[in-house]
Amino acid sequence: MPIYEFLCERCGGRFEELVEPGTETAACRSCGAERTRRVYSAQRAPFKLVKTGGEVRKQERTNAGLRERAKQRFKARRRSAGRSGGGGP
Ligand SMILES: [Zn+2]
Repeated sequence: MPIYEFLCERCGGRFEELVEPGTETAACRSCGAERTRRVYSAQRAPFKLVKTGGEVRKQERTNAGLRERAKQRFKARRRSAGRSGGGGP
């Protein structure tokens, strides 16, 4: 599950919460208000997430899968675009 950053509209506090993907609100950690909104920041979470070896391996497998899918998409696109490339860089 991803960690999202939320901003409380009642107390103005920011907090981070592990939530389901796509979740837009979470109850405030300090005041309990549910009027919070997700903060879309370009920065990564300020605290470091300590991953166990198993999690790292799982993440790497996920990444490898995504890379493989992207490669296949790229290949399919190149195929449908015709043989103008000739053989890559
Ligand atoms: Zn609050």
